[in-house]
Amino acid sequence: MTRHILITGGSRGIGAATAVACASRGWNVTVNYAADAAAAAATVAVLEAAGVRAQAIRGDMARADEIAALWDAAEAGIGPVDGLVNNAGIVAPAMPLAEMDPARIAALIDLNVTGALLVAREGARRMPAARGGQGGAMVNISSAAARLGSANTFVDYAASKGAIDTLTIGLAQELAPLGVRVNAVRPGIIATEIHKVSHGDEDRLGASAPMIPLRRVGEPSEIAEAVCWLLSDAASYATGAILDVAGGR
Ligand code: NAP
Repeated sequence: MTRHILITGGSRGIGAATAVACASRGWNVTVNYAADAAAAAATVAVLEAAGVRAQAIRGDMARADEIAALWDAAEAGIGPVDGLVNNAGIVAPAMPLAEMDPARIAALIDLNVTGALLVAREGARRMPAARGGQGGAMVNISSAAARLGSANTFVDYAASKGAIDTLTIGLAQELAPLGVRVNAVRPGIIATEIHKVSHGDEDRLGASAPMIPLRRVGEPSEIAEAVCWLLSDAASYATGAILDVAGGR
């Protein structure tokens, strides 16, 4: 059976690398994005060149109505979703918690926690065979920040990713009897544009390398491989797992 993987925030960074890794396995992909239609279109072009079906669908994953609409459009375009990568997430400028504006924290939690819960909820409603789906697997994108805490930079973000870990543990238990596995990947510091948001023009990636046991930041493709393994039947006995891919950090 050809698979259909829905990736939230799939237009750039880790999501786009995961889309490419899925296509290399022959899986069809729906790429969700929020704002950058050109990036989404470019990613879809790469997927189609790899010979799979692909589509880009805009939708703000912080909004319940747009989450449901994304699932509807994904299924209308390519068919039932049997793999979900719950990836869309944001960070905000680095600062101690005492200096954070309430609106910043609210916006971050709206996407990283509430949005991720609602995206997973939609999967829980649609993917199990008993609910009209085809079974399959979800992978939630957490962060090493969930266990490190991100003091003085983004405790709000770290806490949001702690919620992703807990969601993974609980939902895995809910959906295991229904034939859907739920796992998470906790990336370390990965070379994407997200660091510009937290650290501006500072060379966060270069500055981080010495404190990482493998002495370098990771590539998005290195996260994508872990995600694809968890999505695949090769991981058939893994559910509720939280896989650190963080260079030993
Ligand atoms: P990125 O390069 O900034 O890409 C973010 C992606 O999410 C883009 O496709 C963006 O689309 C989309 N997005 C942003 N807001 C959205 C919204 N409201 N609704 C739907 N899509 C939205 O980020 P990344 O580094 O690949 O991060 C991806 C995930 O990995 C996040 O959950 C992040 O927390 C996690 N992570 C990253 C790292 C790292 O070091 N990079 C480490 C640990 C965990 P538009 O361009 O259209 O907005």
